[in-house]
Amino acid sequence: MRELVTELRAWLDWAQQSGLQKLASGTGPSPSSNPPEPSKVSPPRLNALQSVRDELGDCTRCKLHRTRTNIVFGVGSPEARLMFVGEGPGEDEDLQGYPFVGKAGQLLTRMIEAMGLRREDVYICNTVKCRPPNNRNPEPDELNACEPFLKGQLGAVKPEAIVTLGKFAAQSLLRDATPITRLRGQWREYEGIPVMPTFHPAYLLRSPAEKGKVWDDLKQVMKKLGLPPAKGGAS
Ligand code: URA
Repeated sequence: MRELVTELRAWLDWAQQSGLQKLASGTGPSPSSNPPEPSKVSPPRLNALQSVRDELGDCTRCKLHRTRTNIVFGVGSPEARLMFVGEGPGEDEDLQGYPFVGKAGQLLTRMIEAMGLRREDVYICNTVKCRPPNNRNPEPDELNACEPFLKGQLGAVKPEAIVTLGKFAAQSLLRDATPITRLRGQWREYEGIPVMPTFHPAYLLRSPAEKGKVWDDLKQVMKKLGLPPAKGGAS
């Protein structure tokens, strides 16, 4: 609870200071934008997200609670048009309480920026909110226990598109065991929201030659959201 309040306060401070760059116009933020618009955070969405976090509480619904340091709920704009869903928190995320803050997270940030967005414009979370021990895959009972909260986050933020990161997030969300090499790059749907599966940034750190495929997937997402085409990709 305290973490979420801190997180929301930091986000609101930032939004107040810089003006929330809501992507409602479909054009997204551009480096040449004139003075930032005043904050347009919609209290209902913030409240809805807060209710989901409150409901999660100091969760003990599955065995992952025994080994976690922090619940990693999610971070970003309650009005994000785009949500990234990863597998589950790793060590850095477990220690800090935020998703994608390690090396893979830094690459995810560069991917988001390559799309012409900022981390603060999107919403980032995971299929499970607690770190599986030794980074093993989340188990079915853990996914089932956590899924209502992912659905709650989607219901609160109402993104127009979801990008799943890696094999596990795609296969578990879509309940489809097709290899990620075939899932990626193809639009699917979850809870009525278009889903673009792509490779996990941790995989890209090991296999940088695959970055071009992820960039192709992200370009499809940009097109769907009406974001202006960007050059290049994440380095
Ligand atoms: N990998 C994930 O899938 N999620 C995180 O939050 C960090 C690394």
